[in-house]
Amino acid sequence: MTKYVYLFREANQTMKNLLGGKGANLAEMTNLGMPVPQGFTVSTEACTQYYKDGNRINDAIVKQIYDALHETEKIVGKTFGDNENPFLVSVRSGARASMPGMMDTILNLGLNDVAVEGLAKLTNNPRFAYDSYRRFITMFSDVVMDISKSNYEEIFDNKKEERGVDLDTDLTAQDLKDIVKGFLAKYEELKGEPFPQDPKEQLVLSVEAVFRSWDNPRANYYRRMNNIPYEWGTAVNLQAMVFGNMGDTSGTGVAFTRNPSTGENEFYGEYLFNAQGEDVVAGIRTPKPIAELEKDNPAIYKEFREISDKLEKHYKDMQDMEFTIEKGKLYMLQTRNGKRTAQAALKIAIDMVEEGLLTEKEGILKVDPNQLDSLLHPTFEPTSLANAKVIATGLNASPGAATGRAVFTAERAAEMAKDGKPVILVRQETSPEDIEGMAVASGVLTSRGGMTSHAAVVARGMGTCCVAGAGTVKVYEDKKYFSVDGVKFNEGDWISLDGTTGRIYGEQVKTQDATVSGDFAKLMAWADKHRSLKVRTNADNPKDAKVAYDFGAEGIGLCRTEHMFFEGERIMAMREMIVSNTEEERATALAKLLPMQREDFIGLYEAMQGYPVTIRYLDPPLHEFLPNEDDDIADLAKEMNISFADLKATVESLHETNPMLGHRGVRLSITYPEIARMQTRAVIEAAIEVNKRGMNVVPEIMIPLVGEIKELKYVKEIVVATADEIIKKAGVKLNYSVGTMIEIPRACLIADEIAKEAEFFSFGTNDLTQMTFGFSRDDAGKFLADYYDKKIFEADPFAHVDQKGVGKLMSMAVAGGRTTRPDLKCGICGEHGGDPESVDFCHNIGLSYVSCSPFRVPIARLAAAHANIKNPR
Ligand code: ADP
Ligand code: MG
Ligand code: MG
Repeated sequence: MTKYVYLFREANQTMKNLLGGKGANLAEMTNLGMPVPQGFTVSTEACTQYYKDGNRINDAIVKQIYDALHETEKIVGKTFGDNENPFLVSVRSGARASMPGMMDTILNLGLNDVAVEGLAKLTNNPRFAYDSYRRFITMFSDVVMDISKSNYEEIFDNKKEERGVDLDTDLTAQDLKDIVKGFLAKYEELKGEPFPQDPKEQLVLSVEAVFRSWDNPRANYYRRMNNIPYEWGTAVNLQAMVFGNMGDTSGTGVAFTRNPSTGENEFYGEYLFNAQGEDVVAGIRTPKPIAELEKDNPAIYKEFREISDKLEKHYKDMQDMEFTIEKGKLYMLQTRNGKRTAQAALKIAIDMVEEGLLTEKEGILKVDPNQLDSLLHPTFEPTSLANAKVIATGLNASPGAATGRAVFTAERAAEMAKDGKPVILVRQETSPEDIEGMAVASGVLTSRGGMTSHAAVVARGMGTCCVAGAGTVKVYEDKKYFSVDGVKFNEGDWISLDGTTGRIYGEQVKTQDATVSGDFAKLMAWADKHRSLKVRTNADNPKDAKVAYDFGAEGIGLCRTEHMFFEGERIMAMREMIVSNTEEERATALAKLLPMQREDFIGLYEAMQGYPVTIRYLDPPLHEFLPNEDDDIADLAKEMNISFADLKATVESLHETNPMLGHRGVRLSITYPEIARMQTRAVIEAAIEVNKRGMNVVPEIMIPLVGEIKELKYVKEIVVATADEIIKKAGVKLNYSVGTMIEIPRACLIADEIAKEAEFFSFGTNDLTQMTFGFSRDDAGKFLADYYDKKIFEADPFAHVDQKGVGKLMSMAVAGGRTTRPDLKCGICGEHGGDPESVDFCHNIGLSYVSCSPFRVPIARLAAAHANIKNPR
């Protein structure tokens, strides 16, 4: 029979997939002899089984849970359901990958109207007992019964007001007893039945609720953002409670073995006395820095430091730990590899290599390529910054510079961000419901909460700039404004945040682009040593090419020439060509484009300093260069000195029912070979020109959308004839190659044939994905959301290569092509080239290079190193 339940002492850290990160690490800490309240983990397989069984926990699993509970009773010496000496547990979710704040924890489970009295008597602390019970009722209602916490807040706040106190800790035992009474009545009013009194019933309902929470919208959204498969499921940990709310010798906190914001090798964290669980994270009371624990309780501090050092060495990574002190005794409640900013990730990886804790390869693997994104984002422009006035300062919770319009709810943030201008989400504090708003915001500002508050943790994870706990900022969310020293800022007003210093500016501060230096440069140099894939960029103009070159691009993998024809007078020449009636007229118009195109290529070659440049010939359907509306057609006709009727007729003749599958790509060059001739002339003449100045450019000419060998052959002959004639005339030597973009499934199937003509392949995975799935990338957005909701797709195939289908075509094409041309160079130039997961795939199927947008070049370099370290070739 399948074992679904494991005591902590039966498991270890290698069992993460089965027991989730939290469970596996609780087990590992137990094995290391650390003070961990004992308990057991219900496996992720039980979660999967729960869904298979139609959202219920089957009897066999329930039995295993009770058996494990019984074993745990023996270990802790208490009995579940005993009213005199109640055995209370926490119910904690924990998936394979940490999903902070996504699933909820229930504390103090096992309490009921009788046990609470027993607990009061036993501890001689009725205040503590009732405090624990009111917390349990709230959490149980929220997580299990879908009764929001806010239903109880009023009762709680009324009591505080009635008693004239500010802090929860100032409420007396009797106050809390009254509050509990109010809560229980409220529960019954809302549910139509009394609060469940049977601890075993509470337990099973709670486990079920955790399983259910795996499928809530927040969790699904988080998974999609972080590419975590739905099938994994979550585990549930049931653990004996220890109490941080037993008075002033008790407390709870979180700590990091190194600073998660800067990476500095310093012990870092926060704690609260007389508090339980989420009080620290929720930002309700402002916690004390962990350094003060050294003064408050030196013995505990020392013990904690020893444990944390041991954990960091054991896991060879920065640890994020949760602990509780119960009446002067320390307990470890969690450890995991801590989330960190990109800067911190770099510093920690490099320091750990230099300290000898990690090898260079291990160090490289510690930095997540996706995370570098935040370092490639802008910083404040120094002069603009010098002139800006600081209106307030908060905690530097997540670095970066952000400027945008203030907005006070997540929904409004999403709405306002649609116009493409940045927004900054301003809130008292954030909660998991705000996650979508946080994702669209350029920055997040909160008035409450510490460095480990929800806003801080989530913003760091997203690489979004965040200033938290800015106490002097008074936020009125429902009235849509905040004020600082009496100055009001309304929705839509520009503000700026510096997540690195915590400074807040009441105006728009200019930002500037990032550079690769310091730790970043050092890690990139290591990455370059360990990768075998080359990294190129997609760039259509010298400016982008230069940015990419500075970020380490080793060539251009895709230059889309059509982008060159949209600007200024060029579009007119282009239009003249399109409306031409004869080949001669067309040639005249193309002659106007030639010098401009040649200049473009010279600029690109120069920016790339001799690295290869792949130039794709004209690709989009011609109607994209003409207007659609009659008014615009009339204006243009006048400008071009032709009749409205003629121009309108041209527009109509170019109309296609399905332009994506229409007259585009290689098909254009087949109808109008003179376009290919002009482009070849520009490519070759530009190369001759720069090579005269001492460079050694080898242009790569790429014919798009080929699905049949004869298409390529036809165009290639034109290209080669034109090029060779120019080269011969110039009396120089110039190497160039002619290849094709692989973006039609048929090309993958006959890749062996295509490679007889094509001197290189470049996978255009945007089109290849669209044609393999048979859905248009311009329209897929509309229905993919339904696919995610219904779990038909988990990830966007336009963001991550669909390895099963599209990927299979790709590997077939590489293998097929190399049967006829063993040294065939193969690359990728679709959006996927900058996606680490897709880069890994490209490495594994033997591509020669990936090409991505300039700002993703460092990400691809690191991803390529990861791929090669994990799977050397
Ligand atoms: P999350 O994954 O959201 O961090 P956790 O399962 O770690 O949720 O629980 C949140 C907090 O609840 C913990 O940090 C800890 O303070 C408290 N907690 C959980 N289990 C126990 C326990 N057995 N005893 C005391 N406190 C607990
Ligand atoms: Mg936790
Ligand atoms: Mg294409």
